[in-house]
This record gives sequence, C-alpha cells and structure tokens, in this order.
Amino acid sequence: ATPMAVMVGTGLGAQNGILFKNAAALENASKLTVVVFDKTGTLTLGQPDVVEMVPAPGITEDRLLSTAAAVEKFSEHPLALAILKRAGDAIDETASDFANIDGQGAKASIGDDRILLGNRKLMRAEGVALDALAAESARLQGGGRTVVHVARAGQLIGLIAIADAVRPTSKETVAKLQERGVKVAMITGDNQATAERIGQELGIDIVLADVLPGEKASKVKELQGQGHKVGMVGDGINDAPALTQADVGFAIGAGTDVAMDSAQVVLMKSDPLDVVGAIELSRATLRKMH
Ligand code: ADP
Ligand code: MG
Repeated sequence: ATPMAVMVGTGLGAQNGILFKNAAALENASKLTVVVFDKTGTLTLGQPDVVEMVPAPGITEDRLLSTAAAVEKFSEHPLALAILKRAGDAIDETASDFANIDGQGAKASIGDDRILLGNRKLMRAEGVALDALAAESARLQGGGRTVVHVARAGQLIGLIAIADAVRPTSKETVAKLQERGVKVAMITGDNQATAERIGQELGIDIVLADVLPGEKASKVKELQGQGHKVGMVGDGINDAPALTQADVGFAIGAGTDVAMDSAQVVLMKSDPLDVVGAIELSRATLRKMH
C-alpha cells in the first residue's frame, strides 16, 4: 500500500464529507461483502410522526393520546417525541414511577393504574389481551407503521401508529450496493412485519427485526461467522458495539457522538449514499496500490 494513494484517497473522501479515520478503513471498505444498515435514523430520517390512532371501544382518541403522552413525557425515545408532538398541551394527567423497557417500550403509573406502552411482545409478556385490536395492529404494521400499544390497568386502550419517512437516497443506496456485488441488510428493534414492509420498499436482501439493543453486535458477528466482511452503518448509542464489531463501521454525521466515536468512517452529510462513495474510493485507492 503506498502512503501516497492512501493520502489522496483520504483527502478526496474528506472533500466529499466522507471522513476515514485511518488507512485500514479506507482499505477494508473495498472488501465488504455485506453492509448492515440500522433502520431508524439511518435508512429513515429518524423524525417519526403519529399518523393514525385506533382507540379501543369506549375510549376516545384524546384519552388514548393523553394517557400515552403523560408517560412518554419521561422518555427520550424518538417514538415518545412523536407522541408528545401530537399531544401538544393536551396532557391532563401526571405519571410517576416511569421506567424504560429497553427495546420494547416503557411503563409508569397514573394514580393507581399501571400504564404500559410498547410493542406486541411487551403486551404479551405482561398478559395484556390484544384480540380486540389485533387485526388493526396487523394492518398498520403491514403498512410499514410502527405501532405503539397502550394498556391501562391491564386493558388495551388503543394503538398509536407512527411513521418515519425513509431518506430520499436510501433506495438508490441499496440498488447501487447490489450492483457492486454487495449484499444489503437492515437491522432494527422494530417488529418483523413493519421491518419487512420497509425492507421490501427498499429492496433489502436480509431483514433482521425484533433485535434488542444489546444484540446488534452479535448479529454482525454472526454474519462474519458466515464468512462475510461486514460494514455497519448506524446513528444511535445502541449501534456503537455493532459499529466496533464490524469490519468497517460507518456513522451518520447527524447521529450521536457515541456512534461517531465507535465508527471508523463518519458520513458528514448523513447521506447513506456516501457508503457507496466510500467503497468506490476504497476500490480506486487499492487499484493505485498494486
Ligand atoms: P430501533 O432499533 O428501531 O431504534 P428500539 O430498540 O429503540 O428501536 O425500540 C424497539 C421497539 O420498542 C420500538 O419499535 C417500539 O415498538 C418499542 N419502544 C421502545 N421504546 C418505546 C417508547 N418509549 N414508547 C413506545 N414504544 C417504545
Ligand atoms: Mg437508529
């Protein structure tokens, strides 16, 4: 490897907002056989909005939203922010004893009532019957929505459907990687149905859904065990171990500091398409080395 080629490659990258932290990253990017993208905040904008509410019989939309918002006030999760944005000032109760349930939801109390918010798995684990709204939940998830189930005193009081738009270049990124012989995977804590729908829309080869925050790195390791050279692209705190585990970790520039510290490449423009640019640059650099 000539130091000159590496310097030129690194410089060209920097000019285009692709920061390689070391020569190894610039060399390894050309060898990747699969790139794993985090879903929320990486392939999507990470600015979710409430798009539909389905209250249970006897419950009003306002009541459903107000209950959820009273709990989400204590959370910093993007889904919580979407619910708070929709609720505005219309929160007429106060929650206490808030606790986050990593990768599944949150819980708290309002008066004597226990409130649970989150995915289907959480509701099942806590013994909340979903039958009354199961068909609606399946319809929304099949449409690519993330569904927040809301339970109060053990009863499901409704569903809040949240959508997070995909980044404008996500689909092109997937196609261009595939054209270059690189497989594309998407990893998310979101449920299988929602993830599959978005995966289909983007043409993703491998959809890894229902992955708990602590499991992302072991999924990367599994792919490596199958003989893959793995690129991982992420933005969140919970992506950091996977970024470190990957052969090349790419952090979205608009993401968390922890992700940027753990990655070997930072995408300053927060554009997933720059992963393709990084691989091209790496390939060109290696051609000049031989
Ligand atoms: P991602 O990997 O997509 O960022 P997370 O691991 O943070 O997802 O969360 C996984 C799932 O857990 C979410 O899709 C949601 O269903 C549920 N969840 C987590 N936190 C919350 C919350 N504060 N309110 C509602 N649902 C939540
Ligand atoms: Mg994310």
